[in-house]
Amino acid sequence: MRAEHTDPTASTPFAARTSVEQVEEGLDLAPKFDADGLIPCITTDAGTGEVLMLAYMNGEALQRTITTGEAHYWSRSRQCLWRKGATSGLVQETVELRIDDDQDAVWLRVKVAGSGASCHVGYRSCFYRSVERGGPADAPARLVFTESGKSFDPKDVYGDAPNPTRL
Ligand SMILES: [Zn+2]
Repeated sequence: MRAEHTDPTASTPFAARTSVEQVEEGLDLAPKFDADGLIPCITTDAGTGEVLMLAYMNGEALQRTITTGEAHYWSRSRQCLWRKGATSGLVQETVELRIDDDQDAVWLRVKVAGSGASCHVGYRSCFYRSVERGGPADAPARLVFTESGKSFDPKDVYGDAPNPTRL
């Protein structure tokens, strides 16, 4: 990942939010960022509809996604702008970018380059496990894998780069 340490709340060229009618029924993109300057983004495969990941964008990431057509996010663990695929080559090309009713969540539909994977662990989707159903009620829930295997080996792609997953 190319680290760009920018202020997540830096000003961006979006419309000010002036009325409920404007936000819900109007044609202005007037996104609502949270106290950290971020907006959540659900990213799905434009072809299959599969949910690939949930990530966050700051204003700059959203703006760059719109202007370049490639998905950009804000990495909360690394605190930097993140052009998806900068290291791995698994670039996400925007097919469609939607905003929800109150404009506080983004839905990005993408075409993924290369192996088609979007998860740094090596899977196609970040949601590669589901909670097992029908287990004993008095035991902690267990997970089952939903993909038959990884699409790439993270060691080959990221080398010794620190894992962004935080405990
Ligand atoms: Zn992931």
